[in-house]
Amino acid sequence: MAPRVLLIEDNEQNRYMATFLLEKSGFEVLHAWEGLTGIELALREQVDLVLLDIQLPGMDGYAVARELRRHRGLEGIPIIAVTSYAMVGDREKSLEAGCDGYLEKPINPHTFVADISRFLSTSGRGEES
Ligand code: MN
Repeated sequence: MAPRVLLIEDNEQNRYMATFLLEKSGFEVLHAWEGLTGIELALREQVDLVLLDIQLPGMDGYAVARELRRHRGLEGIPIIAVTSYAMVGDREKSLEAGCDGYLEKPINPHTFVADISRFLSTSGRGEES
């Protein structure tokens, strides 16, 4: 079964690139352009991983991650923060908010899917359903 990734990203180009790379590797991709829709989708659909842009309109990625982590049903789902901020402490802030990993933009097309798959294989959810 194709791993299903929820991509919460407001930038069209980033969304296009990430989707292109993931679908090419056989992933299924669900999209949300902002946090609330993303949370709603995460709760409604069974997703295997969340890719979360930190700079979102309204609710930022940290707030989205914290909210996702409040829901029991989503406990084991890896959340990977994606940010273009090259700021010290950004990584720590993502992890503190409940993210499992952190990727910097621009994403590297050669390593992007492998970077993400690493979190899928360690989560062990692929064997559940
Ligand atoms: Mn953004």
